[in-house]
Amino acid sequence: MNRTSKGAAARTPGDPAARLLALLGACTERRTRAADIGSLVEGVCNALVDIGNYAVAAVRLADGDDGESLRILRAAEHRPLLWSELEHLDGHPLTLPLDGGGHSIGELRVLRRDGDFGEAETHALQALAADLAFSAEAIRAKNAQRRLDEQLRQLSRALESSSNGVMITSSTQLDHPIVYVNPAFERITGYSAAEAVGSSGRFLVRDDLAQKGLSEIRAALRERREGYTVLRNYRKNGQMFWNELSIAPVRDESGEITTHFVSIINDVSERIAYEQQLEYHATHDALTGLANRNLLHDRINQSILQAKHAGKLVGVLLLDLDRFKLINDGFGHAPADNLLKTVAERLGRCVRETDTVARLGGDEFVVVAGNIDDPDNLAGIAAKVLRQLAQPLDVEGKEVFVTASIGIATYPRDGEHGESLLRNADVAMYRVKEHGRNSYRFYTPEMNHMALDRLDMEGNLRRALERDEITVFFQPILSLASGRIIGAEALARWNHPRIGMIHPPEFIPLAEETGLIIPLGERVLRLVCAQIAAWQAAEMPPLRVAINISARQFRQDDLPRLVGRVLEETGVGGESLELELTESMVMHDVDNAISMLRDLKQLGVDLSLDDFGTGYSSLSYLKRFPIDVLKIDRSFVRDIDSEADDAAIARAVIAMAHSLGLRVIAEGVESEAQLELLRKYDCDAFQGFLFSRAVPAEEFALLVRSGRTQPPGAAQ
Ligand code: C2E
Ligand code: MG
Ligand code: MG
Repeated sequence: MNRTSKGAAARTPGDPAARLLALLGACTERRTRAADIGSLVEGVCNALVDIGNYAVAAVRLADGDDGESLRILRAAEHRPLLWSELEHLDGHPLTLPLDGGGHSIGELRVLRRDGDFGEAETHALQALAADLAFSAEAIRAKNAQRRLDEQLRQLSRALESSSNGVMITSSTQLDHPIVYVNPAFERITGYSAAEAVGSSGRFLVRDDLAQKGLSEIRAALRERREGYTVLRNYRKNGQMFWNELSIAPVRDESGEITTHFVSIINDVSERIAYEQQLEYHATHDALTGLANRNLLHDRINQSILQAKHAGKLVGVLLLDLDRFKLINDGFGHAPADNLLKTVAERLGRCVRETDTVARLGGDEFVVVAGNIDDPDNLAGIAAKVLRQLAQPLDVEGKEVFVTASIGIATYPRDGEHGESLLRNADVAMYRVKEHGRNSYRFYTPEMNHMALDRLDMEGNLRRALERDEITVFFQPILSLASGRIIGAEALARWNHPRIGMIHPPEFIPLAEETGLIIPLGERVLRLVCAQIAAWQAAEMPPLRVAINISARQFRQDDLPRLVGRVLEETGVGGESLELELTESMVMHDVDNAISMLRDLKQLGVDLSLDDFGTGYSSLSYLKRFPIDVLKIDRSFVRDIDSEADDAAIARAVIAMAHSLGLRVIAEGVESEAQLELLRKYDCDAFQGFLFSRAVPAEEFALLVRSGRTQPPGAAQ
C-alpha cells in the first residue's frame, strides 16, 4: 500500500541534526494521534520521507490479532512500489527490527540515496523504531481489550436474558464455589445471586445424594469434560425440581487449565412429571393403582433374575375372586369397583415391600413373591390372603363376603419366565374353582391334562355361555360334480380360556343332559345366522349352512318359532339354512316329529338326516318325513374303499335316497380313494378332512373366496 502524504510539511533540507529532531518530533506527534495501527505506520512512514528526507520508508508488521500482516511503503518519488522491489532499489538501506517487548513484531526499512547512515542518525532511527513498536503494541493491546470487552458485554447480555439458569463455578478452588449466577438461576432456584455466589456448586442437591446422575457430574468435573444429567435439585423454599443440567469446562488462554465450569440449569419438572404420569398409566391399573400386566411381567422377570443368582424361588399367585359377577350384577359397577379397591388394599397387607401386587383386569389379581426359600412360604402367603379377604366387606351398607380362588406357580419348577408361570398359576386357579373355590392350589403338570370332571363341567359350561366362550367353526361341504364349496356344516366349539378348544363330544352330551343344550343351541343358531348375514352383506356366493339340532331342542315345541324369529332378526332367508336331525330323534315320536318337521319346512329351511347308517337306517320310514338331505355317517364312509359290504351299502343308500328325491352328503371323507368311489356311486356332496377340517368363519370365507376346489384325482 503506497500512499502519498496528505498535506505533509515541506521537506526540511539542511542541518541533519535539526532534520532528525524534526523527524522525531513529527513521529511522536503522529504516534500520539494515531487511532489505529494503519494510520500510525502510515504517519511514521510519511514523516520519514517528508521530514526525514529518506528515499523510501517501509514497515512490515507481523500478524496482528486480526491475522493479517501490515505492509506500508512510502517512497519519495510518489510512485507505487512493491515490497519485493525494496532489495533492488539504489541507495543505502537500513533495516531496524521492531521489538514488541522481547519478541519481533516486524521491521522498519529506510533507504537513503545520498551517502551512508551516520551513527547519530542510526541511533535516532533505532529510537524511532522502538517508539513505533511500542505504540503499535499499545494500540494492539487496546484493540484486543476493546474486543474482549465487547465480547464480554455481549456474553453477559446473553447470560442475563437467558431463560436457562447459568451458574459459573471456579474449579481452581476446593468445593467449586459459585462465582456467577444469572437472573434465570435466581428465578428457578429462589436464591439471589448474593446468596448463591460463594457457596459450593453442589448446594442445590442438598442431602439428596443417592442420585445416579450425580456420579456423571462428579466424573465430568474430575475429568474436566462436558457432562449432562437430570438431577433432583431443591429450591430455596425446599421444593424439589428436576434440573436438566449440562456442564462444560472453561479453559484458560493456554487451553490447558480448566479454571471454571459453566452449568446450564434447565427446570424440566413439568416435562418429567408428565413423563412420569405417562409411565405410571402405562404400568399401573387405573382403578386400584396396582401394577398392571406390563409392569407385572417386568417384575416377575426381575424377581426371576434375582432368584437365579441367589438360588431362590419365585412364587406367582394368581387370584380370582369367587362369584364376583354376582356383586357386579347385584350392586352395580361403582360399588363393585370400590370392593376391588378394598381387595387391592388387603392384598397389599399380605406381602412384603419388595413383592408385587398386580391387577390383571376384572377380578383377577396376581401376587409375585420373590426371594422365597421354601414353597411352604407361598402357601403361607396364600392362606394369609384368604384370611384377609374373609373379613366382611361393606358394600352399600350391606355386609358382603368375598372369597377367592388362588393358583400358585413357582419358578423354576413351573416355568422359566413370566408367561409360563402366569399360565400355570391360571391352570391351578381353575382347578380351585372347579373344586369348590375359596382355596389355593399349587400347579402340577397333570393339571393341564386332566379332563374337566362332570360336576365342574356343568358350572364351567354355564359360565362358558355367560362369557361367550362358545363359538362356531365351519366345515366346507363340496359338490362332487363341480368340486366347489356349496355350503358348510356349523360345528360348535368351546373356546375354554385354560384348556383351549374343546370339541362337541366332550360337552354336547352333558349339555343335553343338563338342558344347557337349549341356550347353547340357540346361541349356535344366532351365531350362524349372524355369520350368514355378514357373508351375504360381504357378497359371498350363496351358501347353505347346516346346523345340528339336538334331541332335546327338537322336543321344544317352540323350535320352529325360534328359528323363524332368528331368521327374521338376522334377515337371512330360510334357503340359506339347513337343520340336521338324527334318525333317533324323528323315529322317537313319529307323528309329532312329522308335524314339527313340517313347521320347520314352512320356514324355507332344508332338513337333513345326520349320521345316517348308525341308527335304524330304515329308508322305507324316511318316505314319510319331509327330509331333503341324507348324510351318510363317517363310519360308513371310512371303509368303503376296503370293505366290499360297506361299499355296497353306500351305493345302495345313495341310489335309494335319490329315488326318494333326497340329496346325499357323505361325511368324513379323508382320502382320494373314498372320494373316487362316492363319485362313482353318484353321491351329491361331501365333507371331510380330505378337503378341510372345520375352520373359523374368516378362514372359511377365505377358502370360498380363493375358489379352491377338490378336482377329481387331485388330493390337496
Ligand atoms: P356331526 O354332525 O356328525 O359332525 C361331523 C363331525 O365329524 C365333526 O366333529 C367333524 O369335525 C368331524 N369330521 C368331519 N370330517 C371328518 C373327517 O374327515 N374325519 C374325521 N375323523 N372326522 C371328521 P365335531 O365337530 O367334533 O362334532 C361332533 C358332533 O357334535 C357332530 O357330529 C354333532 O353331532 C355334534 N355337534 C357339533 N356341533 C353341534 C351343535 O352346535 N349342536 C348340537 N346339538 N350338536 C353339535
Ligand atoms: Mg352334523
Ligand atoms: Mg354327522
